[in-house]
Amino acid sequence: MPQYVEAYTTQDIYGITSRLYKLLKDPATKLEFCKVFAGNVGHYNYETELMEIDYRCDIIPTLIHESLHKWNPDWCETKVLEAERKICCKITKRQAKNILKAFIKIL
Ligand SMILES: [Zn+2]
Repeated sequence: MPQYVEAYTTQDIYGITSRLYKLLKDPATKLEFCKVFAGNVGHYNYETELMEIDYRCDIIPTLIHESLHKWNPDWCETKVLEAERKICCKITKRQAKNILKAFIKIL
């Protein structure tokens, strides 16, 4: 199986999570906490920039996934999924808490 994403270093994960906190704190970020259908748990609309997160899903991986779509519009789904998985494997408990805190503030 081809590898689309290199392994992330601790420093890379720090950079990605910092960028995610900023995104979640930015009042310009359009995020909706809703039911997403068609077998999906999240969706990013490239035209409207609306990020939809299904409240029934795993919040952290979905937030990371949809943010990766926003930041990398040229990435295919396979690459986004691989990056999401690699990032989620490496985030720390503190980073997970900070992501959730930033997310809860905008609900
Ligand atoms: Zn996707």
